[in-house]
Amino acid sequence: MKLTPGLPTPYYLIDENLILKNLQIIKKIKDLSGCKVLLAQKAFSSFYFYPLLSQYLDGTASSGLFEARLAHEHFGKEVHVFTPGFKEEEFHDVLKYSDHLVFNSNSQLIRFKERALKAKKTIGIRINPEVSTQTGNSMYDPCSPTSRMGIKIQDINPTLLDGVSGFHFHTLCQQNADALETTLKEVEKKFGKYFSKLKWINFGGGHHLTRANYDIPKLVKLIRYFKDKYQMDVYLEPGEAVVLNAGFLISKVLDVTKNDVEIAILDASATCHMPDVLEAKFIPPVTTADPKGAHIVRLSGATCLTGDDIGIYRFANPLKVGDTIVFEDMALYTIVKNNTFNGIPLPSIYARKLDGKDVLVKAFDYSHFKGKLS
Ligand SMILES: *Cc1c(COP(=O)(O)O)cnc(C)c1O
Repeated sequence: MKLTPGLPTPYYLIDENLILKNLQIIKKIKDLSGCKVLLAQKAFSSFYFYPLLSQYLDGTASSGLFEARLAHEHFGKEVHVFTPGFKEEEFHDVLKYSDHLVFNSNSQLIRFKERALKAKKTIGIRINPEVSTQTGNSMYDPCSPTSRMGIKIQDINPTLLDGVSGFHFHTLCQQNADALETTLKEVEKKFGKYFSKLKWINFGGGHHLTRANYDIPKLVKLIRYFKDKYQMDVYLEPGEAVVLNAGFLISKVLDVTKNDVEIAILDASATCHMPDVLEAKFIPPVTTADPKGAHIVRLSGATCLTGDDIGIYRFANPLKVGDTIVFEDMALYTIVKNNTFNGIPLPSIYARKLDGKDVLVKAFDYSHFKGKLS
């Protein structure tokens, strides 16, 4: 990829043409299936891009008051809020900024339902279909044993469903339509007896809609089946898929050292700038890496955390101080999660506009580090 020379590193570069490519796939899914698609802001809340996103999407999924407010201020359209715990002190403001509220438990429903209905909000409950379609990492499996996410069928209290017009589940993570199909069979079998009371169902996020091998025809079939059979609106609320492969993190090599393995120290950090590399054990692609290259290098951050390693890569040539390293797929779960641990500066944010020009969206300095300390 071609970089604008001389921009100070590290910086995230979010490419509007790559976002647009994803949005066009999502538009096709919407056109074929008649579903509505929300942006899950927890993956990507860079509101500079909301005017572009809101042309294609129907609204946002928010995780609480602040995301709901951001959506209300910058996205418009439908604001849906789900949180495992609405807070008494915030609820008045949540109602101000949102249209649809999803409750995670019977006790939350009892506590807030009447106020939400009085404020003319649409309300739903999150259900736990108890069908794990992913193995390995319970961190990302809301159906894992003892999960706090959603109400199980055995705990549904029909008398509490008065006024509830939607069900919501979110059980997938980076998955294809076959996992959704498995989940929907279980959802229908367990919860189908209540569907006649509902106006909408939200299939959550985790649908990897925009990746190359995603089975769009199967997804469309599943959505249409639900819409036609039960006369419900169907929502999807992907985060990742909206900005999949649409961002980069550009960094520079500060030093090259050796301890049995070759190590390059970068001005970008796993723990500060791409925490999912450590949390989700994700090794981001590097544009100049060469799987057949002779030089094996561990790329690491310049923090004092020993485990601040991004991954082990192969390069055709040895790395040297001043080289540029570009990480791919850096729009999702990066800017929303980054931090100034160790006094490491936040990367600035650039947008690559539709005409190919790079513009600075925001730069950060010492005041942003100091500002949240005291
Ligand atoms: C995280 C989350 C999403 C988005 O998930 P992706 O994997 O980014 O698509 C959607 N809905 C809920 C409730 C979530 O917690």
